[in-house]
Amino acid sequence: MFANAPTWTTARIDLLKSHFEAGLSCREIAASIGVSRNAVIGKLSRLRLTRETTGDEPPPNRPAKERRPKPGPRRQYEMLRVVYREKDPADDAAVVSEHRCSLFELNQERCRWPISTPGAEDFCFCGNTPLKGMPYCRGHTRLAYRPGSRQRVARG
Ligand SMILES: [Zn+2]
Repeated sequence: MFANAPTWTTARIDLLKSHFEAGLSCREIAASIGVSRNAVIGKLSRLRLTRETTGDEPPPNRPAKERRPKPGPRRQYEMLRVVYREKDPADDAAVVSEHRCSLFELNQERCRWPISTPGAEDFCFCGNTPLKGMPYCRGHTRLAYRPGSRQRVARG
């Protein structure tokens, strides 16, 4: 064995170049010349013989779509959620309207839940302090938005 015998003789380099230009793969060139594939790759690299990459480029970066919830006030929904989450034993009790008022006295600070029958003489509104962002007080908000029952009739 000639330990110092160069792997790449002039003849082999010529073969390498011709095979490379012929379009042979590194494996095929290696087999043809009788050297390892790694040797072919290394030599091609040193000779700066590189093939143009085709289709190996990474796809262009696409900005990931952010799925953010749409901004916007969901105050009423949140309010209802809070109301329903609270466990209050008085929830099912009749709502006490201690500040009843007439239609003309209604304003933003008064629950507009109608008491009694519309058109009746004693017709009035609840008048309690409404929940923030809601037209009704806490008790009437529950009644108004209770799923399955729009209006509750006092039991008994
Ligand atoms: Zn009310």
